[in-house]
Amino acid sequence: MDLVRPRGTEDVFPEAAARWRALEGVCRSLARRYGYGELRTPTFEHSEVFHRHLGDATDVVQKETYDFKDRGGRQLTLRPEGTAGAVRAFLQAGLQGGPLPCKLFYVTLSAFRYERPQAGRLREHHQFGCEVLGSGDPSTDAELIALVADLLRELGVQGFGVRLNSIGDPACRPAYLEALRTYYRPLLPELCPDCQARFQHNPLRLLDCKRDREAVAGAPRAADHLCAACAAHFALLRGHLDALGIDYAVDHTLVRGFDYYTRTVFEFVSGELGAQNSILGGGRYDGLVASMGGPALPAAGFAVGMERLLAVAGGLPADAPPLDAYVAAEEPREALLACQALRRAGLAADMDPLGRSLRAQLRAADRRGATWAVIRQAPERARDVALLRPLRDPDAPQREVAWSAFLADPGRLLRHGAAG
Ligand SMILES: [Zn+2]
Ligand SMILES: [Zn+2]
Repeated sequence: MDLVRPRGTEDVFPEAAARWRALEGVCRSLARRYGYGELRTPTFEHSEVFHRHLGDATDVVQKETYDFKDRGGRQLTLRPEGTAGAVRAFLQAGLQGGPLPCKLFYVTLSAFRYERPQAGRLREHHQFGCEVLGSGDPSTDAELIALVADLLRELGVQGFGVRLNSIGDPACRPAYLEALRTYYRPLLPELCPDCQARFQHNPLRLLDCKRDREAVAGAPRAADHLCAACAAHFALLRGHLDALGIDYAVDHTLVRGFDYYTRTVFEFVSGELGAQNSILGGGRYDGLVASMGGPALPAAGFAVGMERLLAVAGGLPADAPPLDAYVAAEEPREALLACQALRRAGLAADMDPLGRSLRAQLRAADRRGATWAVIRQAPERARDVALLRPLRDPDAPQREVAWSAFLADPGRLLRHGAAG
C-alpha cells in the first residue's frame, strides 16, 4: 500500500478529536482567564527566523528542521516551535510600539522536526504556548508558572512537580561560564563526546549531560554566581511562588544553552520520583527580541507538546458527543426533511441513507448514542404522524405527534419530551 501517512505523523479520528477539542478548550479558557490573546502564525517561515535563533552545532534542533526551497528559490523552513514565529510576527506588526506587556498564546500549533524514527517521536506534533513580551518583572515568570500549574490541575494530571533555576544574564553569566570551564577543564578527558563539544561551544549545556552525572553534581551552580539584580529577581520569583502556594525545587542542572535565555528557567515534570518525565519547559528570554532585530525588550514564555498533555491528562472526555436525534424513516426524502428541521433547531441529527430496515436503523441510532429516535415508517405515514421514541430514558413513554407539527418545531417537541 503506497498511500500511507508519512512516518511520524498521525490521523485523528472523531473520538480522539473530541479529546483534542476538550484539551484545546481547557487551554483557551486558561489563556483567556490569564489575559492572553490568540496569535496564529504561518506554518512555514523564512529559514533564518529559526536558524539564527534556535539550536546550535551541538543541538539536534538545527539538524532536524524541514528545510526546503519553494519554486521561487526562497529558503523556507517548517516551524519547529512557536516562539521564533511569534516574535517575528510581533516585530513585523510593530507591536513593540503598542501597549506592553503583550500577552500572546497559540494552541494546536503544528510543529515539525525530523526526529529519528527509533525515538518514537512525532515529526509533526502540536503545541500550546504562551509568550509575554515587554515585561521583565518576576511576577510575569510567576504568572506563567501558575498558568501551567492550573493547566495540569484542570487536566487531572496527578503528582506533577516544578523544577526551577536562574541562569543569570549577560552581566553575571560570563564569570559563571568561566567558573564552569575552570571546573570542567581537568575532567574533560573522561567526559563523553557531547560534553567535549559543549565545553567548546556551549558550556552551560554541560549541566544537561545524562551520562556524566558525577561531574554535573560537583559543578559550580549558576544560582551561586548571580549578580545582585539577578539574585533579587530570583528571590522575588521564589517568594511569589511561595505566596501562590506552588511547590517547586531549585535544580541547578536546569539550563538553556543560549545567550538570549536569561534568569528564569522552569520545567514541569510528572511521574514517580526517580523516574520523572519532563512535561514542558519555559523561562525567560530577555535577549531574543533584540537578537531578532527588535529593541531590547524582556520576554518570557513556555510551550508544551499537546500530545504529551493528552498522554498525561486524566480528566478529558473520551467520547464523541452523541446525537440528539436519529431519524428512522422509510423514505430518504422524509428523513432529509426531518433532519433539516432538527438541525435548524440546533440539534445534532442524522439519518440512514441506505434504506435499511427499521430494526437496523434503531441499532444505528443506539450505536450513535442518540437521545431520540424519530420514527416514520409505513404505519406512521398512514396516520401522517412521527413517532418520538426516547432511547436514553427507559421510563419515558414514546409518543406520536403530527408530522407537520414535528417539521414546524421539532426542538420544542423533543425538549418537552414525551410528556410535553
Ligand atoms: Zn557528557
Ligand atoms: Zn545577572
